[in-house]
Amino acid sequence: MSFTPSRPQLREVFDHLLKNYGEQNWWPGETPFEVMIGAILTQNTAWSNVEKAITNLKQADLLSPFSMLEVSQEQLADLIRPSGYFNVKADRLKNFCRFLQQSGGESGLQGKTTEELRKKLLSVNGIGPETADDMLLYAFERPVFVIDAYTRRIFTYLGMASGNESYEEMRSGFESALGPDVSLYNEFHALIVRHAKEACNTRPHCEQCGLVKICSMGNNRQKISGS
Ligand code: SF4
Repeated sequence: MSFTPSRPQLREVFDHLLKNYGEQNWWPGETPFEVMIGAILTQNTAWSNVEKAITNLKQADLLSPFSMLEVSQEQLADLIRPSGYFNVKADRLKNFCRFLQQSGGESGLQGKTTEELRKKLLSVNGIGPETADDMLLYAFERPVFVIDAYTRRIFTYLGMASGNESYEEMRSGFESALGPDVSLYNEFHALIVRHAKEACNTRPHCEQCGLVKICSMGNNRQKISGS
């Protein structure tokens, strides 16, 4: 099943989340390089663990492609240990820094179209669609909607997605309905993450959720608890 929400449907969800949680103003990092490193470190772990790893990297003065390539793999792995899978991630960070250097750094990549840049990022070992799109949206400020497990869960519960859509089907569903809008995508993704953590988790708190009137899961749960 493909994911083809309408703009009003998505806006209703967005407006509700914005009203409920307020603006998130979410820029996950002080520099584009830090954002990109965070996008790799956050694979399969919570953001709080990434923050600890980033703090270690900052304290060791390693938040630059050059210094990250200079340091030994073992030392890098040790510093990013809090983010989990630290040996694999150390390898991915080094791969990514090598790619960045060969591409002329961030400025060498800025001139590329979003499609070209996405293709290049996806060619780096260890960078999949979610990581690439995180980098595109938050480091390069390109209108690319990030799909993560939270997005998939909430929109499946809402009844707008089946849960079986491919990453690309979900991404193109959001982008087609909303049109290219970096600040909207930034805010929407941040609000989705907030809602998934605070209410719409694997045992959703539908009784406190204003989306219940338009939500399949919320409606079903209300019927069951009311019967
Ligand atoms: S009503 Fe429940 S399942 Fe639906 S979005 Fe809200 S918390 Fe999630």
